[in-house]
Amino acid sequence: MDGELRFDRAARDAVADDFGHLVRTPPEVVLLPGSTDDVAATIRWAAKRGRTFAPQGQRHSVWGRSSAPDGIVADMTARHSVGDVRGDRIVVGAGATWSEVLAATLPQGKTPPVLADYLGLSVGGTLAVGGVGGTTWRYGVQSDNVVSMVVVTGAGRTITCSAEHHPDLFAMVRAGLGQVAVITEATLALVAAPRQVRRFVLSYPDLATMLRDERLLVRAGRFDAVQGAIPAAPTGGLMFQVDVAKFFTGSPPDDDVLLAGLSDDVAGRTPSTIPYADYLNRLAGLESALRANGQWFHPHPWITTFIGDSRVADVVDDELGRIDAAHDLGAFGQIVLSPIFTGAITSPLLRTPSEELCFAFNFVRVPTTADRGNADRLVEANRAVYERVRSNGGTLYPVSAFPMSPEDWRRHFGPAFDRLREAKRTFDPEHVLTPGYEIFEDVPHHLNRRRAAPG
Ligand SMILES: Cc1cc2nc3c(=O)[nH]c(=O)nc-3n(C[C@H](O)[C@H](O)[C@H](O)COP(=O)(O)OP(=O)(O)OC[C@H]3O[C@@H](n4cnc5c(N)ncnc54)[C@H](O)[C@@H]3O)c2cc1C
Repeated sequence: MDGELRFDRAARDAVADDFGHLVRTPPEVVLLPGSTDDVAATIRWAAKRGRTFAPQGQRHSVWGRSSAPDGIVADMTARHSVGDVRGDRIVVGAGATWSEVLAATLPQGKTPPVLADYLGLSVGGTLAVGGVGGTTWRYGVQSDNVVSMVVVTGAGRTITCSAEHHPDLFAMVRAGLGQVAVITEATLALVAAPRQVRRFVLSYPDLATMLRDERLLVRAGRFDAVQGAIPAAPTGGLMFQVDVAKFFTGSPPDDDVLLAGLSDDVAGRTPSTIPYADYLNRLAGLESALRANGQWFHPHPWITTFIGDSRVADVVDDELGRIDAAHDLGAFGQIVLSPIFTGAITSPLLRTPSEELCFAFNFVRVPTTADRGNADRLVEANRAVYERVRSNGGTLYPVSAFPMSPEDWRRHFGPAFDRLREAKRTFDPEHVLTPGYEIFEDVPHHLNRRRAAPG
């Protein structure tokens, strides 16, 4: 072992919970891997003894998806090295956060083309789910922008995969929910980083006008990032907002050209020009506020979905009619409603509606109470939202807080399910890896899941 195995209560408790604070599952053992070989050796050990193994990044899942009941959790933050920028690439440990990646790339004038809104997520944890950000409408998700990965399969084999080498494995690891392999290292694509950002928060009187401008904004392609949000208004009711960002270096863009033809409330526009690094780190203030008021540590029953353009207006309107925003979202929460061209997404396991344009439609719930009953109510509400979204052709972004049965997953993956199951048989035949999603029925050993209140 280059790293360490921890069996003590403190180490096991530290990895039992996640950002959802809804599911608590201590493993038997915690691995702090000192190398890819440690990951491989431990997985082989687990496979022989009918144990499970789950990699864990920053534990920002919301439904125990990085847990390993009666198994081994690998704290991948131990693998967080970040290499030098080489041309349009950088090699990073899967446990590095996106902040750590940017600390190396920005001084060299480079950036990954897509970044999630929150930079405290790990590279491995994000590539395992996809990674949606403000530029996704154009460049896809973060897992579409990885060049190659060093992975350890469920059989304990270390393989470097890319579009050229082991393409089938590469396809099943990207947004593959850790089902066939653990990522230990990733080579990320980089593009030239802009110096500054011209940013506007646009306000709308209603959903229909907001959606109309979101469509116009991505079709015209004037801005680099387009993200919609519907937070609760402090005075009651809802606000309809679109956050748009134009990246630049040198002369600022012409506001009139950027904003021509939009139907937002001109008096309500909030323009700013900020450094690119500050733009990327735009959630830092919110995180500090939530840590200070304790809500960062409350349960977070989030649900994240994609809904097609043809149904978005009706479905969102219906959901808005059902929620009590102050209670169901909280003063710091919001509904995300951001346009994405589905053709930009190439990771085969990330399921999007079969329409040219869809919208990320997420309930980012930040309850003002840590009450378990309230959290359970919202988990139940999530299930109902999912059913309505699904029956309207929508799909799940699987970082959501509610249980999914193997049948739900089969339906979710649709035509991609057989490919994933085949890859599972090939690369993780003993069903060792990442059991927290509970995707497959045919597990060879009984998974003794323990769901209990945190604390
Ligand atoms: C505050 C906050 C903001 C967020 N913002 C965004 C956003 O803007 N866009 C977006 O797309 N998502 C966002 N998310 C969701 C986030 O992308 C996912 O929850 C992501 O999985 C979290 O990464 P993590 O490092 O915390 O992973 P973890 O929660 O530790 O793990 C997530 C999953 O990936 C698996 N995994 C972890 N590491 C590896 C690895 N090395 N190899 C294989 N599998 C691995 C785990 O087993 C688990 O199943 C946000 C979440 C939070 C809490």
